[in-house]
Amino acid sequence: MTHLGLYALQHRGQESAGIAVSDGEDVVCHKGMGHVNEVFNADVLDKLHGEIAIGHTRYSTAGETDLRNAQPLTVSCQKGQVALAHNGNLVNAAVIRRELESRGDIFQTTSDTEVLLHFFARSKQTGVPESLADALDRVTGAYSLVALFRDSVYGIRDPRGFRPLVLGQLGDSWVLASETCAFDLINALYVREVEPGEMVILDRRGITSLRYSPPARTAQCVFEHVYFSRPDSLVFGRSVQESREQLGRRLAREHPVEADCVVGVPDSGVPAALGFADESGIPLKLGLIRNHYVGRTFIEPTQANRDLGVKLKLNPVRSLIAGKRVVLVDDSIIRGTTSRQIVRLVREAGAREVHVRISCPPTISPCFYGIDTPTRRELIAATHTIEEIRQYIEADTLGYLSLEGLREAAGDCDDRYCLACYTSKYPTAVQEPLLALRNRG
Ligand code: AMP
Ligand code: SF4
Repeated sequence: MTHLGLYALQHRGQESAGIAVSDGEDVVCHKGMGHVNEVFNADVLDKLHGEIAIGHTRYSTAGETDLRNAQPLTVSCQKGQVALAHNGNLVNAAVIRRELESRGDIFQTTSDTEVLLHFFARSKQTGVPESLADALDRVTGAYSLVALFRDSVYGIRDPRGFRPLVLGQLGDSWVLASETCAFDLINALYVREVEPGEMVILDRRGITSLRYSPPARTAQCVFEHVYFSRPDSLVFGRSVQESREQLGRRLAREHPVEADCVVGVPDSGVPAALGFADESGIPLKLGLIRNHYVGRTFIEPTQANRDLGVKLKLNPVRSLIAGKRVVLVDDSIIRGTTSRQIVRLVREAGAREVHVRISCPPTISPCFYGIDTPTRRELIAATHTIEEIRQYIEADTLGYLSLEGLREAAGDCDDRYCLACYTSKYPTAVQEPLLALRNRG
């Protein structure tokens, strides 16, 4: 079931995958580089016996792309065997690590997650929940965690709740996942979110809930609703599809345009395009087709095939686009290179006008909480005006959703979202040395 759950969550990380299981005596872990179907086969799964398990798909925001950094991370310490899987990014990990290394600690990975295991093992507390709470007290940033011990699984969400973590039920058993789409695949029922600052313990006795940290002002990542999560999931208690459609509706009201068709950029731009089309009355056309079988490619773009990266993935449907005034809806512009190539593709297919609409505000700041964004310097909106971006991507017009529009469409009535990539107002102190640990940017 953990294996199936990982399939449903593959979009959250494609770099490596792993599962740790316990049969009540021993914790055994298998992990590898690549997609879930590359890492696991029937032989491997046969060797993973147990009654409880955790799994992880990794997408690196801290630490190199390397098998050593694949998760779950497993260690044996005086408190027993433990396997840990982390979604998010700790903002003070680099500083802590230097401190621990100067005292002689040895690290086996370059990932930020390992500092938690060090603090857990060193804690003067004897109980597992207390030792975990002790370790969590030392770190700042974004973490949704699942930890596996010999006879229990822990689910933990940081006090600000940056990343999602949900609790479900399957018969008499409890399950945890980043997104509810994993529950759908195994026919588990969604019960609730693990609350920010909550630790749930799942063992033979059932479920125990502890508050390891006082409530903080929440900072749930709004980008989960804009781009990262699957639209068929409930995230932060809200349907992602519903948010994206609303984003599109708001966008249509804020940036209306006379056009013949609305085309969403697959896959992430499509739900917002649906909302845009509904609100504006301009028909939605499936004018771009995505090839789902293109994995990582080793074809180096040359001058002659500069647009190959995008062309391998997306192809315009000429009969829908030729001679038309097209509204192209996408979820975000990061560096601007993709949008520029897509606008070119659509023009080459004969579009008369191309109007780009983006279902979030300009991305002006990097994320330090678990989304892989480049440095500020590489974010086109951090250094260019909207008019300059329009010229760069060669669009006839360009419109971004406003911050108010984003908050309203994502249901932010109580100020519960992190919006830092659009406002530069980070919910925690962001320590510069972290940059040294970031592998991109
Ligand atoms: P670009 O502007 O060329 O850097 O890329 C923008 C495209 O990348 C958009 O179509 C988004 O769907 C997608 N995107 C946005 N954020 C991310 C991210 N953190 N990781 C990967 N792709 C992203
Ligand atoms: Fe999400 Fe942006 Fe905040 Fe990062 S900075 S957690 S991407 S809203």
